[in-house]
Amino acid sequence: MKQSSLFTKTSKTAPSDAVSANAALLERGGFVYKNSAGVYSYLPLGWRVIRKISDIVREEMDAIGSVEMLMPALVDKKYLEATDRWGVDVGYRVRGIGEAVDAFALGWTHEEVLTEIVSHHISSYRDLPFSAYQVQTKFRNEARAKSGILRGKEFIMKDMYSFHATQEDFESFYEKSKQAYANVFKRCGLDAYCTRAAGGAFTGNITHEFQVVSPVGEDVIYVCPKCRYAENKEVATVKAGDKCPKCMGVIEEKTAIEVGNIFPLGTKYADAFNLTFTAEDGAKKPVIMGSYGIGISRLMGTIAEIHHDEAGLVWPASVAPFAVHLLDFTKSGTAAKDAYEALQKQGVAVLWDDRQTSAGDKLATADLLGIPLRAVISEKTGDKIEIKKRGSDEVTLGTIVDLI
Ligand code: ATP
Ligand code: MG
Repeated sequence: MKQSSLFTKTSKTAPSDAVSANAALLERGGFVYKNSAGVYSYLPLGWRVIRKISDIVREEMDAIGSVEMLMPALVDKKYLEATDRWGVDVGYRVRGIGEAVDAFALGWTHEEVLTEIVSHHISSYRDLPFSAYQVQTKFRNEARAKSGILRGKEFIMKDMYSFHATQEDFESFYEKSKQAYANVFKRCGLDAYCTRAAGGAFTGNITHEFQVVSPVGEDVIYVCPKCRYAENKEVATVKAGDKCPKCMGVIEEKTAIEVGNIFPLGTKYADAFNLTFTAEDGAKKPVIMGSYGIGISRLMGTIAEIHHDEAGLVWPASVAPFAVHLLDFTKSGTAAKDAYEALQKQGVAVLWDDRQTSAGDKLATADLLGIPLRAVISEKTGDKIEIKKRGSDEVTLGTIVDLI
């Protein structure tokens, strides 16, 4: 992509109301735009990152046999009334102009909707197990919409639900989902602790959260850095300084960002929607379910929190909006055009800074945008290209073939 075709501009100064690094850098770089408190637009560069992250999530969910679908964002009142969740405090309710009552909630989670759909498709143990997921905008009336895109009133989530005949089968899928989640966060350049946590609004059971240590996190967790045992403070059985219950390590207290959460649901939703199946012995039984969320947009904010320096973002290659940022300092621009076309021909995602602006401005913009490889073409470098990794000081001179 030519940078001149991007309508977004970068800014040297952080917006005055930006409270965290992710908000400041993502807004300065033109990745996101804050429309209202907790309501963001994903601008072209930011949307490329969201797509990269969603694709990683999709690959890992597909790999454990889940199937993608899309449910309505307008959730009929009948669904939430069935589980007594029509009145939850994070809900938004909507009514059409001229209508007397609220008929819908804006979807904040989809257990009810999918359970009801599934009840029309499932009848026998032979239909189980299976799992389905969606990547969708969710709405929550968050009182504290702060920390940039880490906590929005509107945000992008991957929610997955699984359906099983037996508790054993559920548990085996739950373990697989833990591994899939670990893969997602690792591929996104994050070190996430799989943390024992409370059930919250969903269930009384122990659940698991995936927590990334960061000073801007809203959760307090107790971790053993040695064996990676971790508990949320809400359910903690250990405190800082204690001996780890799993190894000889010492427990530390950390603040962390919850990037994902997996829940055993038992038969709560199956009971509410009469989702049953006929078991092998002919008995009618309720389906056992699990629910698995990842905050896709929160993940982008978390990556920005973890991967930046004073000059700007330092995207891990796996989620970077482009692989190469091509800067052209020459007058004619022909060498840069050739390099741009050669990279595109090889399928390398390249952003070409073809703007009429100073070399200094281009270099500062490249640091701010944080694309993994910077390639500079200038009168100084002759027919060679100056190649530098973002986040490293080492500069090498190479050919276009080296760059590719
Ligand atoms: P939190 O405890 O942070 O309020 P939650 O436990 O209510 O989150 P879940 O219902 O488990 O959230 O949602 C699944 C995932 O969606 C969370 O792990 C988080 O990554 C993300 N998420 C939840 N709420 C928000 C929000 N308001 N803005 C952005 N992402 C969110
Ligand atoms: Mg949660």
